[in-house]
Amino acid sequence: MNPSSVDRVLTKISEDRIVALAQDLIRVPSINPPGNERPVAEHLAGCLREMGMDVTVTDLTVHPGRPNVVGVWDTGASGPTLLLNGHIDVVPPGDGWSFDPFAATVRDGNLYGRGACDMKGPIACMVAAIEAIAGAPLHGSVIFTGVAGEEADQSGTRQLVADGIRADFGICGEPTGMVPVIAHKGDFYYDITTFGVAAHGGLPHLGVNAVEKMVPVIQGVQALSTRLKEKSHPLCGHPTVSIGLIKGGVITCAVPDRCTISLDRRLIPGESPEEASAEIEGMLQAIAQVDPQFRAEVKTPVMALPMEIDADEPVVLALRRATETVTGKDPGVQGWSATCDANMLVNDAGIPTCIFGPGDIGGQAHKPDEHIAVSSLVDGARAYALAIMWLLQ
Ligand SMILES: [Zn+2]
Repeated sequence: MNPSSVDRVLTKISEDRIVALAQDLIRVPSINPPGNERPVAEHLAGCLREMGMDVTVTDLTVHPGRPNVVGVWDTGASGPTLLLNGHIDVVPPGDGWSFDPFAATVRDGNLYGRGACDMKGPIACMVAAIEAIAGAPLHGSVIFTGVAGEEADQSGTRQLVADGIRADFGICGEPTGMVPVIAHKGDFYYDITTFGVAAHGGLPHLGVNAVEKMVPVIQGVQALSTRLKEKSHPLCGHPTVSIGLIKGGVITCAVPDRCTISLDRRLIPGESPEEASAEIEGMLQAIAQVDPQFRAEVKTPVMALPMEIDADEPVVLALRRATETVTGKDPGVQGWSATCDANMLVNDAGIPTCIFGPGDIGGQAHKPDEHIAVSSLVDGARAYALAIMWLLQ
């Protein structure tokens, strides 16, 4: 592509258009839980149809009434397929806002509202980017997927993967401050329950106290936490384990017969779930060997695999070059502690997917007065547009 085609695309990105797109999305609440994504899915489907995309709105099998919206723009010339992925649900607004969370107010160069940053703003950038490159002489196709359910059970992207979605490369538009994320940790939740025998609190020797049986388990988790610091990933740092919940007993005057802790175990790329589960099972077996009364079980209710793609993937290089063209600075690459839908696209669908979008997920998302700088929306849309153009040229 020569410089003039870059300029042509960049001048097609208008601040007013992106802000209007983002405001319209924010003003259609899609709070999850419970997950009322249908109105925003229908709205987005309308935008994509107006742009001439081939659009489908399909309910999730596991959540009837809650749809994904998928739009396809086919250049008409044979070439690769680029997947753009963004979740259309938002977390509940909570309290403490200075603005109506669904009014999409622009003030002092920022757009405020639930989803402004995570991630209706970045979705508006993707839509504006497709609009800007539509009509350019490119090859292949762009599939835009607006998915439900990311903030709770990742059901929207899971459905796309189960339905066999295919692409040569992908961009998951979570807010990364426009620094490409090429690796993130996995997230496994373990519920460990110890069992005892109930008895009157005044006659504790007649029972087995399940809370007391949890003591060596907690000590074992602390020791595991220390051992995990010996492992490291260049972009994601150490794996971690944290006890997030503890439940045990029903009343002070009774010996509890069960106690449960919930662990949040973050895996770095290269660690396997089997390895992580074996560490926990091994710890429980070691306790059982010295305490014949010890009985415990482990459940793994939530899991997301770690993700990593090569730094030389074309999608990563295109996003870095696009960002440098727009901002004047090569952003490099980074790793994340959080998981997102990209893990399924990479691990299950085999699509090299880079997480990339404007906005700061740590500083601006999932809190009161969520916002995104209008200037970063413009930069984000421009970077997406150039990356699409270079990947499909
Ligand atoms: Zn998000």
